[in-house]
Parts: sequence; C-alpha cells; structure tokens
Amino acid sequence: DISKIESGKMTVTPTDIDIHTILTSSLTMIREKAIKHGIETSVQIDKEMPQILRADERKLKQVLYNLLSNAAKFTDDGGSITLSAKMVSRNWIESRVPEIFKVDCLSVLGESGEPFCLISVSDTGIGIKLEDIKKIFTAFEQVESSASRRYGGTGLGLALCKSFLEMHHGSIWVESELDQGSTFTLVLPYVHANTI
Ligand code: ADP
Repeated sequence: DISKIESGKMTVTPTDIDIHTILTSSLTMIREKAIKHGIETSVQIDKEMPQILRADERKLKQVLYNLLSNAAKFTDDGGSITLSAKMVSRNWIESRVPEIFKVDCLSVLGESGEPFCLISVSDTGIGIKLEDIKKIFTAFEQVESSASRRYGGTGLGLALCKSFLEMHHGSIWVESELDQGSTFTLVLPYVHANTI
C-alpha cells in the first residue's frame, strides 16, 4: 500500500457509509482480544451527527482497525478503549488540534465551511512521550522499542492511516500522556465526494 501511494497509484473509491455500522463492526474486530485481556470497550456516537459519510469504506475500515488494534496492543489488562464520533466545524478543529499538528492538519483540510466527521479512539494504555508524538506517523517509526518488541508490529500502520485520510482531505493527530493513555483523533469532511 505504501509503495502504491508513493507511485500515485492508490485511488479512492467513495461510497455512502453508515457511521454507526462501520464503528460497531470495527470494534467487533478487536472485541475478542479485549475480552481476553479484561479491556472494556465502548462506542459513543453523538445523536446530532449525520449518519452517512461519503468515503472509501475499505480504507476507513483499515484506519479504524489499525487505531483500535494499536489501542488494544498498548493497553494493559483491565484498561479501557473508547471509540467516539461527532460532527465538528473547521473552527472547532482549529481551536482543538494540538499545536505540533496544526500546520499539517489545517493545510489538508482546506478552507471550506463544510462540517467534518470526527472519530476518536481513546485508550488507557502506555501513552507516548511528547518528543515521540510526531514521529509515529512516519513510516517504520516505533518509538517504544521495548513495548514494540513485546507486542510486534511494523511501524507502518499510522503512516498508512495518515495517507489514507489525506487522500480524503482529512487528517489525524494524537494527544497522549505517558502511562495514562492516548487519544487518536481523525477528521474527515462529510461532503467532498466531487473532489476525490
Ligand atoms: P506498529 O505496527 O508498530 O503498531 P504503527 O505505525 O501503527 O506501527 O505505530 C507506530 C508506533 O506508535 C508504535 O510502534 C508505538 O510505538 C506507537 N503507538 C501507536 N499507537 C499507540 C497507542 N495507542 N499507545 C501507545 N503507543 C502507540
């Protein structure tokens, strides 16, 4: 997938996606592992948000699966993982995106006044050091080497997530505190089907 993106051969095939269905089915993919480790999972979807999002279903599922499996991988037994979704404006994003992601994020979102679908994956896991936060979206970066050795992985997942979201004129960032947990947040414009 990475080499396809780099050679410009990765295409986006948007369809109408039901947000509720895609979130609950993504969570199902990690539920067995979560139960085995006593990790509680939950979904919170804002009732006010439009249910249909226009996006590439396979790519969005891959992004969610990657974020959720990382959350499960880096959360100790007895922790929790929360998946939530709501509608936000560009102004909201501008005021909330952490400073280190701001330029990157706002440049891909563009200037349109259209609403965005925000999906976040929060965990109570090992967290990420401040100095490592930006690196993890770069291919082959695994910042917690002892945990990575313990749990495996390629260091490619988040780089792919970022590329897939940017192909939709969307973005991703993370907020985290060491030993407390992490929240990965992605934003996707609702109405952009004509532009991809
Ligand atoms: P990997 O296949 O190694 O998980 P990713 O690109 O998905 O590759 O993640 C890169 C690195 O980011 C991970 O190796 C880990 O160091 C860090 N990371 C990702 N998600 C989390 C998380 N939920 N909690 C703590 N660290 C994380």
